Amino acid sequence: MPNTKEHSAYSHTQTTAVRSGLDTDMAHGAVMPPIYLSSNFSFESFNQPRKYDYTRSGNPTRDLLAEALAELEGGHNAVITPTGMAAVNLVLQLLTPEDTLLVPHDCYGGSYRLFEHASKRGLFNLNIVDQNDQQALQQALEQQPCLVWVETPSNPLLRIYDIEAICQQAHQVGALVAVDNTFLTPLWQKPLELGADIVIHSTTKYINGHSDVVGGAVIAKTQELHEKLAWWANCIGATAAPFDSYMTLRGVRTLHARLQIHEQNTQSLLDYLKQHPTIKKVYHPSLKSHSGHEIAVKQQSGFGAMLSVELDLGTEPQYYPQLLNHFFSSLNMFTLAESLGGVESLVCHPATMTHAGISEEARKSAGISSSLLRFSIGIEHNEDLLADLSQALESFSVFRQKLTTK
Ligand SMILES: *Cc1c(COP(=O)(O)O)cnc(C)c1O
Repeated sequence: MPNTKEHSAYSHTQTTAVRSGLDTDMAHGAVMPPIYLSSNFSFESFNQPRKYDYTRSGNPTRDLLAEALAELEGGHNAVITPTGMAAVNLVLQLLTPEDTLLVPHDCYGGSYRLFEHASKRGLFNLNIVDQNDQQALQQALEQQPCLVWVETPSNPLLRIYDIEAICQQAHQVGALVAVDNTFLTPLWQKPLELGADIVIHSTTKYINGHSDVVGGAVIAKTQELHEKLAWWANCIGATAAPFDSYMTLRGVRTLHARLQIHEQNTQSLLDYLKQHPTIKKVYHPSLKSHSGHEIAVKQQSGFGAMLSVELDLGTEPQYYPQLLNHFFSSLNMFTLAESLGGVESLVCHPATMTHAGISEEARKSAGISSSLLRFSIGIEHNEDLLADLSQALESFSVFRQKLTTK
């Protein structure tokens, strides 16, 4: 029977990530906990259920991942969901049609779409605000929302929101706070310690970290909240498959080791990009010029491995598609793809990819221009990444010169 060992004794999150659930197999003494794919579990005898009866309601493999993530975030327990969006949707089950949900204007596109469409159907009231605009935030809180959604750093400009300050203000009006911690993981940011009530993850990203599972998690601070969430997860069927849970826990074991290299690589690329003549602007919370730098220093223990840049496309928009195409096809080691947080480096063009669904006007006001590129820095050797970026930028400059002086 799993979950019998006491893990809370570990004083470092790294140790928790590596050892959570280890050496708990009573049948064979397997060091790594086995995977239970079974959809059902027998009754010991008539009217004598065991701990588990049916995998939608509970599964030992999924529970091990829940336990590990709850320990890492410092929560009471976690619900493991089939996707990050299922985690977002699960939290929304706490709301009734009279309740108001207060969300940031620049949250993850999929979350934004769900908030908008669910509120249009009358499931709750929605209020969208720039949470760094103190006056707007205060006004929105005066309307007594039931739940405040926070996502920091934001995507793709990596804006930082002050979790502790927002939690204090929200709690004063009796609202719960849920934080999407996907971009940093509990190793770099612990929202529950900063006052949040719920943390959600797309475990698809850094937590699994190998770009081969989609998944999510909802970690609650209190038993009461967890029980409500777990009840709804079973009710609506938003619980993850054992195999995905197993794979994700395997990813968790190396989270700290991966994050160290992600961060080192990001720093060395930043140093290079900052001074490059064809890069107009670099967005990363570690930069003193970044508007959220001070809050990031205060609330994060790592700056993250996502960075965005503005490429100098010149002043003639008719050439932009060709220029962008040339740059992306010159890169060998940054795959043009959505998603983030895997071992492999990726590049994304938000205006035509992740943020293509929103109007050009909305994109502009959100600061997402056609020259904006978003990088997810992987764990390849940093010299290879640097060499690749540098040859692609060089080739881009030559091509731009030729094209614009035709
Ligand atoms: C990817 C992502 C989600 C959605 O997760 P899925 O696993 O794709 O369903 C939610 N929030 C953030 C910040 C994300 O990056």
